[in-house]
Formats: sequence, C-alpha cells, structure tokens
Amino acid sequence: MFVPNQKIDLPFLEEKGVTLYIKREDTIHPHISGNKYRKLKYNLLEAKQQNHTTLLTFGGAFSNHIAATACAGKETGFKTIGVIRGEELKDNWQGNPTLKLAHEHGMEFHFVSRSDYRKKNEKEFTEELESLFGRFYCLPEGGTNAQAVKGCEEILTEADAVFDFICSCVGTGGTIAGLINSAQGHQTVWGFPALKGDFLKEDIRKFARNENWNLISDYHFGGYAKVDASLIDFINTFKKETGIPLDPIYTGKMLFGIFDLIKKDTFKKGTQILAIHTGGLQGIQGMNLALKKRNLPLLDI
Ligand SMILES: *Cc1c(COP(=O)(O)O)cnc(C)c1O
Repeated sequence: MFVPNQKIDLPFLEEKGVTLYIKREDTIHPHISGNKYRKLKYNLLEAKQQNHTTLLTFGGAFSNHIAATACAGKETGFKTIGVIRGEELKDNWQGNPTLKLAHEHGMEFHFVSRSDYRKKNEKEFTEELESLFGRFYCLPEGGTNAQAVKGCEEILTEADAVFDFICSCVGTGGTIAGLINSAQGHQTVWGFPALKGDFLKEDIRKFARNENWNLISDYHFGGYAKVDASLIDFINTFKKETGIPLDPIYTGKMLFGIFDLIKKDTFKKGTQILAIHTGGLQGIQGMNLALKKRNLPLLDI
C-alpha cells in the first residue's frame, strides 16, 4: 500500500529552518482510517485463521475504532458487535454520527453503563457476552494488542529513514509502539497523548522494544475529546493553508503541539520531522454537534 508523505510548505517553517512532512495515513480508507486499518489488519487474519465469524469490541460513542471495526468487518465478511459505553445512548444512538455509520455497516450494539463498562476485561463479563452473542474474536478497546502493534510496524518505510523525528498521536499506545519498533537507531519518536495520565508509558513499554522515544504531554487540552476555540482555529487555519484536514481529538492536538515546539525553537535548524496523520476524520461531524451545543466555533468540513 502506498501512502504519500506530504511536505508542508509554510513561510514559518522556512524561517525556522525546519522541514515538516505529514504521512497521509488518513487517505487509506474513508472510514477505516489510518492507524485503525493498520491495527485491524493482522487481527482480522488471525480471526479468520481461528475460524471466527464474529468480531466483538468496545468503545465510546465517538470511537474511531468502533467505526473502523464495523467497516472492516463488513468488507471482510465478519459479523460485528460493539459494546458501547453509556446506557443512555440506547434510545437515541441514531443522533450520533459515529454509531450511525457503524450501524449502516452492520454493527450490532450492546449498550452498557459506565460502571459495567469498566468491568469489560473481567471473566464474568466476557462469559455474559458469550451467552448473548456466541463465540467471538475479541478486539480490546482502542484495538491495541500484539497483532495491532505488528500492523503499525508497517507504517514507516525505508524511505522514511531520512527523518530525524517521527511524531505520532497517542491514545492507548499501540500505534507509537509499532513506530518505535520500526524506527531507525538515529531517529527519535515523539508521542503526543490525547489524554491525561501517567499510565501510558507503562502501556507503551509492554510492546515497544527500543528506548528512542518520549511523550510530550503538554498538548492534550485538558483531556480526551476536550477542545477549545484556539484548537478549532488552528485546525481550520491549517486546513486552509495546507489543504490537509485534521481531527480534533488526535491529529489536531499533535500538529498544534509540533507547531508550538517549532515556534519555541525546540528543534535545531535543518531538522526533518515526519508527523503521522493517523486519520480519525469521521469524528469531526460528532464533534461539531457538541461544539454547536456549547456555542463554540465549528470545524470546517
Ligand atoms: C485511535 C487513534 C489514535 C490512537 O492510537 P493508539 O494506538 O490507541 O495510541 C490516534 N489517532 C487517531 C486518529 C486514532 O483514531
């Protein structure tokens, strides 16, 4: 699969002497975007090999992973079940663009309360799901497991060895673990967490085999799916100037961070940066509904 690296041509970057490219993983598929495609690839092969006919996974109402699993399942002939956090959605999920998309691609939903959702990795909960849905191949929340990391090791190519820094968004840490494993010794991988918390480093270490990485935790904007007017403005301006759409939960925050770090002269002149566009654009519609309610500016589409 060929994914282009797009050069960002802006006077500001030239002034700073920094080269920035974006790997357009968002162009892989309209719904199974970016890293979710990579994370599902080997899991789907494994599920086929084990003669499964059903995929079951977990997620919140705006989850890119839920949307991707539904679409990938449909394309490869699996029945899909989404265990969704939030009982209150049971009767009004049709108003949620992510769930609507997943449903249109055949996903069956099982809505659970937030407290039950927290038990999702417990044996009793799994047994209850099996009694409801029969035998299934289970994908963890966010899709991160060893097969997913293996898929993400295929994001970087030999040609990407010219870059000094590889930048990635971080949710559960599977994507960055794959990047860390396939980066060259002279490269540094920087992760931009989309959520608050110190648990991420441990999670990444479960799968990462190298030490050439760090997390930049200053750009989560207050936590997962939290946004403010300055972030919305950055994303809209970035799209106007480069033609590249960013999502508000992951890639928008990472690029905001990269720009801020370049402004603060964090990188020496001549540095070459590759930022991975992990996709997530399906989430824009849902975010705009939430922004409208709060009377905040909307994301351009
Ligand atoms: C899920 C997701 C991430 C986070 O990936 P992890 O492997 O969970 O760290 C980053 N960007 C986008 C667009 C995503 O959908």
